[in-house]
Formats: sequence, structure tokens, C-alpha cells
Amino acid sequence: MIAIIGAGPAGLSAAAAATRRGEEVIIIDSSSQLGGQYWRHLPSARNDSHSLHYDFSKAQKLFDELLSQPLLTRYSNSQVWQAEKCGDQFHLYILRNGVEEKVVADKVILATGAYDRTIPFPGWTFPGVMTPGAAQAMLKGHGVLVGKKVVIAGTGPFILPVATGLAESGAEIVGLFEFNNPFRWIFNLHGLLLNPSRIAEAFYYLKKLQKHRVKIEFGKKVESATRSSAVVDGTEIECDVIAVGWGFAPDVTLAGILGAQLGVDSDGTVIVKVDRRQETNILGLFAAGEATGIGGSTLSMIEGRIAGGGRGGLSRWRAQVFANGLKKVYPVPSILTKNLPEETIICRCEEVTRGQICTSIDELGAQSARTAKLFTRAGMGLCQGRVCGRNVSEIVADHLVQKVSDSERIAGGQRPLAAPISLGELGDGLAKKF
Ligand SMILES: Cc1cc2nc3c(=O)[nH]c(=O)nc-3n(C[C@H](O)[C@H](O)[C@H](O)COP(=O)(O)OP(=O)(O)OC[C@H]3O[C@@H](n4cnc5c(N)ncnc54)[C@H](O)[C@@H]3O)c2cc1C
Repeated sequence: MIAIIGAGPAGLSAAAAATRRGEEVIIIDSSSQLGGQYWRHLPSARNDSHSLHYDFSKAQKLFDELLSQPLLTRYSNSQVWQAEKCGDQFHLYILRNGVEEKVVADKVILATGAYDRTIPFPGWTFPGVMTPGAAQAMLKGHGVLVGKKVVIAGTGPFILPVATGLAESGAEIVGLFEFNNPFRWIFNLHGLLLNPSRIAEAFYYLKKLQKHRVKIEFGKKVESATRSSAVVDGTEIECDVIAVGWGFAPDVTLAGILGAQLGVDSDGTVIVKVDRRQETNILGLFAAGEATGIGGSTLSMIEGRIAGGGRGGLSRWRAQVFANGLKKVYPVPSILTKNLPEETIICRCEEVTRGQICTSIDELGAQSARTAKLFTRAGMGLCQGRVCGRNVSEIVADHLVQKVSDSERIAGGQRPLAAPISLGELGDGLAKKF
């Protein structure tokens, strides 16, 4: 039996490929519905081209095939919080609708996706400051507009669909700021020529934004926020929501727990290392989609198909070339964490400031992000450093006039638990064998 963790584009494509080959599959996802981040639309919005901004039919076809597939078992609202390899099998510990269960599988495909990358700035902890992913998730997944006047900033192509979605749904985009220069697309001409549909996609968003009179301003970022405004390039912009994102960070937690080899991608993110068949260095453990490197939904689907036993072919190569090029077009410079005021909170869970991290170096002798964490508790809270880990490493390295080493980046991606679980839930667990 194959267990697939994650029901986004990668996990669903893996499930389709494996069941078509006659394999028994269980797909486990913490969300209540299929689709992951990309296809998280409410069922009522799936056929509404006005709110959708693209064709949902490809996803719907996949959903329909899988939901009528007798070889597929679906666990939704199910969080894999721990995993281990016992002999030839994998034991997955799952919190399913608040009850702990165990699933045993011969092969596991990790399709755990990614989450928004955040970089702190003064005021980023105020209500109304969020990531573009959060603003989009509220709209797609709940039909909720996060605010009337919205500033969107950061870097990457993702800010375009977010701005378009919010504008089409009635928000006033009072500022759209892309940190990088558009001429950097010269670094991905090859990727564009191999993937012309991406040019059409970009024009679609630009046209929609023009219709709403939204202009993209390049080379600018949100410098600080108050409860009702964003400061950009010294100018205060009145708004009720500020959505700032710096690309995505792959979710490698379960791969790390299972002992799979992790690596550092060209954009500095920690990724799961896989071979051409998407298998990790652990026999029977595969990974696909954003967990193996940020590459977008098309590449995620192709990788999922390969992990499920299908073929990739030239389409994989084309999507990979585009993804590699995107990292050159939208770099995130480490300067963004330099020169932040001392009182800026870096770790929100434990409320640790930049000043406290620097003091742990100057006065307590911390020599790495790990020792700074031990002295300050930065990264020891509920999110286990998912949000702040990389920023803490950058700040510590900058203060010590060093570079963040790959081993330190990888160590930052290692967590003992994939999700918090209470002792009560653990004690009541059924440990049911699937
Ligand atoms: C917030 C956000 C919004 C995005 N929106 C867009 C967009 O509009 N357009 C676009 O082109 N790209 C978007 N992306 C990029 C997007 O992630 C990919 O292009 C695509 O969805 C990746 O597919 P995937 O299958 O690898 O991962 P995902 O789609 O992220 O799916 C991963 C799934 O795994 C589940 N999961 C993770 N860990 C566990 C666990 N331990 N137990 C159980 N389930 C688990 C998650 O709940 C999730 O459903 C977005 C990314 C993020 C983070």
C-alpha cells in the first residue's frame, strides 16, 4: 500500500498515476478538501470564472477520477504529526479529526508542499499585516475579502494572481510593489520560450490589473507598518491590509524526521533530495512537488506523476528550466534582515527581538543560530522555526560577519515533530492499524 501525504497538485497526480497502475493508495491531508494550496477554492467557486481567474476543469477532472477510484482511501482533516521507518514499512502517526491513528505503508510519497516565506519589518506583527498566501487563502478557501484597501508587496510572480484576485473581488489595491527589476526576466528567456503559456498567464494578470488601474512599482518594499498604513520609500500609504511575501519555503519536516537527505537549493531554501524517479535516499520514500524545490503547480504535478510510477518526459525538463530561471529573476537578498531596528520581533511565537538575538552573541557568546536559539528561545515556539528560522540564521551570520552555511540551513529544517499534539490526544490515541 502506498501512503501519499499531501493532496495538492503533486499528491493528487501521484495518487492518479499509482491507482491507474492498480496500486492501493491512501491519501492523507490536513485540510478538509482536496487541492492543496493551488486548488483550495470553495466548491461553490470552482465554476465561477469571475472569482476563479483560470480554468478549474483540469483539477475537477482529477478530483472526479480519484473520488470514484475504489483503490483510493482518503483521509482528510488528518495531520501526520510523526513518522518512522520500521523494517521495510513506514509507520505514520496521524491526528485525524482530533483522534490519533496509525497507518502502515510499504511506500510513502511526501507531497507536503510549501508555505509563504516571511521577512520581518517594523510593524509586521500588527493585525492586518499578513502574507499574500494568507490573503489569497481567505478569498479562495472562505470567500472572505481581507480588507478594502490593500497594499501587496514582496517578490515573485505569486503577487500578481493575489493582487488580481483581490481587485476582481472588490478590494482597492492601493499599492503593488515588486522588489526586483522586471529586466531580470532576461535570466529566464530560455524558460519562457520553452513555456509560452506562462507569458500568456502573465499578460492575463497584467491586463486584469490594468482594468483595475493597478500599477506595479518596481524596486520598492514595505519599510514599516502602522495599524492603518504602510511606509514605502518614505511615503505613508493608508490601507487596512498589508500583504507581504518573499516567495515560498518548502515543507521538508517529515522528510527530515524520516532521515531523508536534505539539500540547499539555489535560492537558499532547504529541499528534499530525490533522484530521477523522485525517490529519496531512503528506500521506498519518495517526494514530489514544492517539498523538493519551489517550481510551481505544473512541475509539482509532473513530479507527482513520476513518484506515482508514471512518466515525466520532456514536460518535466521544460517546467524545471522555467523554475530554475524564476529563482534568478526573483532573488531575495539577505540585506533585508540587515539593519532592522533592535526592537523588531523576529520570532513571533516566543517574542524574541533582533536586539536579543544580537545580545546572545555579544554578551552570552552564541556562535551560531543554534546557540542563539538556545539562549533566546527564537524558533522554539509553536511553529518550530518555520517562519523565523531562516531569518534568525541570517541575522546571526550577519552579526558574526559570516555566511550561513548549508549545514546550518539544513539543521534549521530539522524538527522532531511535524505538528504539535497534546498529551491528552496522544494518551487517547487508538494506534489503529490501517
Ligand atoms: C499559501 C500559498 C498559496 C499559493 N497559491 C498559489 C497560486 O494561486 N497559484 C500558483 O501557481 N501557485 C500557488 N502557490 C504555490 C503552490 O504551492 C504550488 O504551485 C502548488 O500548490 C504546489 O503543489 P504541492 O502539491 O507541491 O503542494 P501544496 O499544494 O502546498 O499541497 C501540500 C498539501 O500537503 C498538506 N500537508 C503538508 N504537511 C502535512 C502533514 N504533515 N500532514 C497532512 N497533510 C500535510 C497540506 O495541507 C497541503 O494540502 C501557493 C503556495 C502557498 C504556500
